[in-house]
Amino acid sequence: MDKKVYLDNAATTVLSGEVLSEMLPYMSTIYGNSNSLHSFGREAANGVDKARDIIANAIGARSNEIFFTSGGTEANNWAIRGVAYANANRGKHIIVSSIEHHSILDVCKELEKEGFEITYLPVDGEGLVDVVELLHAIRPDTILVSIMAVNNEVGTIQNIKAIGEIVKDYKAYFHTDAVQAISVLPLDVQSMHIDLLTLSAHKIHGPKGVGALYIRTGVTCKKFMQGGEQELDRRGGTVNVSGVVGFGKAMELTIRDMKVTNKKIASVADYFIKKLSYAIADIKVNGKMNQKAPGIVNVSFERVEGESILMMLDMEGVAVSTGSACASGNAHKSHVLAAMGLAPEYVNGAIRFSFSADNTTEEADYVVEKLVSIVKKLRAMSPLKKKAKEESEAKKAKKTPKSKKEAK
Ligand SMILES: *Cc1c(COP(=O)(O)O)cnc(C)c1O
Repeated sequence: MDKKVYLDNAATTVLSGEVLSEMLPYMSTIYGNSNSLHSFGREAANGVDKARDIIANAIGARSNEIFFTSGGTEANNWAIRGVAYANANRGKHIIVSSIEHHSILDVCKELEKEGFEITYLPVDGEGLVDVVELLHAIRPDTILVSIMAVNNEVGTIQNIKAIGEIVKDYKAYFHTDAVQAISVLPLDVQSMHIDLLTLSAHKIHGPKGVGALYIRTGVTCKKFMQGGEQELDRRGGTVNVSGVVGFGKAMELTIRDMKVTNKKIASVADYFIKKLSYAIADIKVNGKMNQKAPGIVNVSFERVEGESILMMLDMEGVAVSTGSACASGNAHKSHVLAAMGLAPEYVNGAIRFSFSADNTTEEADYVVEKLVSIVKKLRAMSPLKKKAKEESEAKKAKKTPKSKKEAK
């Protein structure tokens, strides 16, 4: 077996060659501490400043509103805790969606133990937050609303601008986890009324272990890391200079190529969905089809365990996920699919295929071919096999051909 197909780009992406070239000098000759006052420091700081400008520009922010972190997880932890602790005197109510990344949800669970009250907004069957629900939930003592722009498991894009418009009329701050969104749609913190925003480099072909939190000027947010006056005295610790430089380059390329990249990804991913729908019966594609990240394809296979598919695909060199990378590897089932109201069988049988611009239709063909035999094998072993087969045949007899919209 030498064929390898990587379809787990929502977990992490390959480092771009251009990004690596940009980083290399900062890992060898330009080794100064960007906070030092001498020429070595200034040279490193120039690289950091340039990256900060690119990232600020990408979201319509000012450079002094961008704070580098060790990644999306740290930025999310910082946003939630930083706002919670600094504004507890004004209120202790926080609103998040029920499909946030665990770096939001787990912090909220901790804050509940500390006396904060958290409202977890429901989502509909396609993973969309209803803005009317937000209107009902928001109160005078709400200090923060955090709703992700693009979900990492099903790809659904939230109506961020509508949410921002609601929150701006209250004293609450609006934070959005834009880790998956930044490569999918143009983001503008001004027109979308975003007060805090999370980014991560390794989801956009940058290096791992570096991210950023945008904090709008004037937003009260506690310092997250003690130990130095770096990042305008808001995040202590020596700056990951080469990582930040790589992040800047990755952002530059992502924004520059966004349209072309997404078109390319959509054509392969849509081809994959279409082929899969014809080749395998009794599957369900999850998420909001006309409003989602093109590269995230979440599919439930009836009467099959997602984890079994994952392992058998792995033996064929195909890398996928059963949900988020953090959820796989342990027994936890997807909180996102559960929140969408999917029956347990669909939750258990879900696989996330996530594409990058490097994936090809040939790879899609290969994966579908392997899936056909894997699913056939697993379904044959399923105890529900006979009953399900009868049901499926009855269903098929009733079924009209798939509509174009569905196959798209
Ligand atoms: C990957 C991811 C994160 C975490 O970012 P890291 O840089 O890996 O810590 C947060 N939110 C979403 C939506 C993600 O996909």
